[in-house]
Amino acid sequence: MELPKTEVERLNALSQYQILDTAPEAYFDDLTHLAAYICQTPIAAIGLTDADRHWFKSKMGFVSSEELRETTFCADVILQKDLLVVSDTLNDHRYTDNRFVTNGAHIRFYAGAPLVNPDGFVLGTLCVLDHVPRTLNAHQQEALQTLARQVVTQLELRRNLEVLEDSIAERRKSEALLRHNAFHDQLTGLPNRALFMSRLAGEIEKAKQLQDYLFAVLFIDLDRFKVVNDSLGHIVGDQLLIAIARRLTACLRPVDLVARLGGDEFALLIDNLNSIRDATDVAERIQAELKLPFHLNGHEIFSSASVGIALSSIGYTQPQDLLRDADTAMYRAKLLGKTRYEIFDPSMHDSVVTLLQLETDLRRAIARQEFRIYYQPIILLETGKITGFEALVHWQHPTRGLVPPGDFISVAEETGAIVPLGYWVIQAACRQMQAWLSQFPQKSLTLSVNISSKQFSQPDLIEQISQTLQTTGLAANKFKLEITESVIMENADSAMAMLLQLRDLGIELQLDDFGTGYSSLSYLHRFPVDGLKIDRSFISQVDPKHSCGSQILTPIVGTILTLAENMNIDVTAEGVETANQLAQLKALACKYAQGYFFARPLDQAATAALLAADPQW
Ligand code: C2E
Ligand code: MG
Ligand code: MG
Repeated sequence: MELPKTEVERLNALSQYQILDTAPEAYFDDLTHLAAYICQTPIAAIGLTDADRHWFKSKMGFVSSEELRETTFCADVILQKDLLVVSDTLNDHRYTDNRFVTNGAHIRFYAGAPLVNPDGFVLGTLCVLDHVPRTLNAHQQEALQTLARQVVTQLELRRNLEVLEDSIAERRKSEALLRHNAFHDQLTGLPNRALFMSRLAGEIEKAKQLQDYLFAVLFIDLDRFKVVNDSLGHIVGDQLLIAIARRLTACLRPVDLVARLGGDEFALLIDNLNSIRDATDVAERIQAELKLPFHLNGHEIFSSASVGIALSSIGYTQPQDLLRDADTAMYRAKLLGKTRYEIFDPSMHDSVVTLLQLETDLRRAIARQEFRIYYQPIILLETGKITGFEALVHWQHPTRGLVPPGDFISVAEETGAIVPLGYWVIQAACRQMQAWLSQFPQKSLTLSVNISSKQFSQPDLIEQISQTLQTTGLAANKFKLEITESVIMENADSAMAMLLQLRDLGIELQLDDFGTGYSSLSYLHRFPVDGLKIDRSFISQVDPKHSCGSQILTPIVGTILTLAENMNIDVTAEGVETANQLAQLKALACKYAQGYFFARPLDQAATAALLAADPQW
C-alpha cells in the first residue's frame, strides 16, 4: 500500500485529536446523515485513517466499526488529498478486485471528501457509497466537501475543548497545591499558623454556643533547639523538626490539631476536653515522648520541650489572645527551668511585664554594682570542718530588695547578661577568697563558682579564668567550676577540649545538680570531671519502703555514691537540712556536704565571722 510522504507527522496530528475509539457523537452522526441525504445514498460514514485501519467515528448503512486501511477506497483519498468519485467500481480497474466490490457488500459507487486539518494533514474522509452506479452533480460534490470541512471544524473544537479541560484540571490541581501550601508548613507538612488560627476561631465560636464546652491550646517550644542547629547543622536540625512533628502527631487523637508555628515552635489544639487533666495529660505525654532519644544521621539527640497551656474556660473571643496566653505560659515554663508545662493564669501577664522590667534592670545592674556574692560553706564530713565555699550571686535590687539567683539567673542566661555577670562573679569571688586566705593563713579553703551554658560557650572563658587567677593570686587548685550535665550536653562539640584545658590548668570540675539532667553517668564518664554534687531533691527524698516516719534516704543516693567511688569521683551532697540526713551520708562515706543544716548562703561579713568562729559539725 502506498503511504503519504508525511505519514508519521499525519499520524501524529491525528493522535492529537484523541478521537480514535471514542463513542459516537450526535453532531458527527448529523453530518453523516446530511451527506447521505444530499447525495441520495444509502450508506455514508466519517472515518479516520489510522496507521493500518480506517476507523469510523460515525456511520449509516453498515455495521463494522473499522476496516483494514489498505482495503478501503478512503486510503486513496488520503493519498490524493482531494475528492475522489468512483461512479462505477466495476468500470474502474483500480477497484474491480476490491473486496467491497466482489463480496456481499456489492459496492458500485463511492465518493469521499478528505478531512484536511488546518495544518494540511488528511485525517480521514467523509464518504458516501451505494450499491448501484451513479454520479454526483456539482452541487452535491460541493456539499460533500463543505460537510467534510464541518467535520474538521468539529474535530478542532473538540480538540480545543480537550486542551481547555486539561488546562482547567491542571489549574485546579495547582490551585489545590497552592491552597495546601498556604495552610501547611513546607518542612514538616503540618498545618501552619494560618490554618491553626482559623480552626481556633471555629472552636471559639463553638464554645460560645455550647455551655461547658472546653478546649485547650498547647504552645510548645523546644528547649535548646538552637544548640542542635548550631552544632550539628541545619540538615540535622530539619530532620529533628520532622521527627518531632511525627511524634507530636502520634501523641494526639485524629480530631486534635498540631501545627508548626515556625522555627522550633508548635501549637496543639485539643478540643472537647472533660477536664483540665486531659490537657495536662497530653503535655506530659508529649514530654515523655520527646525525651526518648532521636537517632538522626548517626547522632543520638536528646530533646525536650517547654509547654504552655491556655484553656478556653477563660472565655476568649479572639483566637490570637488564646495563643498569646499559651505563649506566655510557655515562656513562664522556660523561666522556671524548661522541660515542664505551665497553665496560663491571668496573673502571668503581670509577671511577664515584671520580667521585661527585670531584663532591662539586669543590663544596668552590673554597672550600678548591685550584685553581691553570698557564700555557702562546704563541709568535709571526715573532719566536720569547712573546706570551701560555693559562690552564689545575689542581686541587691533598688526596689525589690535582695533577689536570689533562682529568680534572675535564667533570665540573665536567656538575654546573654550572664556573660559579663559571670566574669564579674569569678573576679570578685577570687579576690575575696584570696583575701580570706591571707586573713586565715592556716586554713586551706576552696572556692566553687557556677558556670552556665552561655558562659561555657564563650571562647575566651579559659583565658579569662587563668588571667583572674593570676591577677588575684588565687592558686588554680583552690578554684573549682560547677557545671550541670546539660552544659556539657549543650556544648558537646567543644566541651571535651574545654574540660581538658581546665584540667591542665589544675582547676577541678564539679558536676552540679547531678541526677536531674537527661544524660547518664555512663555517658559522662568520658568527660574529665573530678566531683559531682547530688541534687538536693534526692537528699530530701525518703525511701518509700521505710514509711512509719523513719526518714531513710532514697537508695538512689547510695547508688550514685557507689558509682562515683568506682569512677574515682568525689561526691558532695547538696541541700542537707537535718542531722539525720547528715548521719546517713556519713555512713555511706559521702565526702562533702552542703546545706541549711550547716549554713545558709552568707554575705561577705557573715562568712568572715563564720571562718573566724571555725565551727565543727
Ligand atoms: P546551685 O549551684 O545548685 O546552688 C545551690 C542552691 O541550693 C542555692 O540556691 C542554695 O541556696 C540552695 N541550697 C543550699 N542548701 C540548701 C538547703 O539545705 N535547702 C534548700 N532548700 N536549698 C539549699 P540559690 O542560691 O537560689 O542558687 C540557685 C542556682 O543559681 C544555683 O544552684 C546555681 O545554679 C545558680 N547560680 C548561683 N550563682 C550563680 C552564678 O554566679 N553564676 C551562675 N551561672 N549560676 C549561679
Ligand atoms: Mg552550684
Ligand atoms: Mg546544685
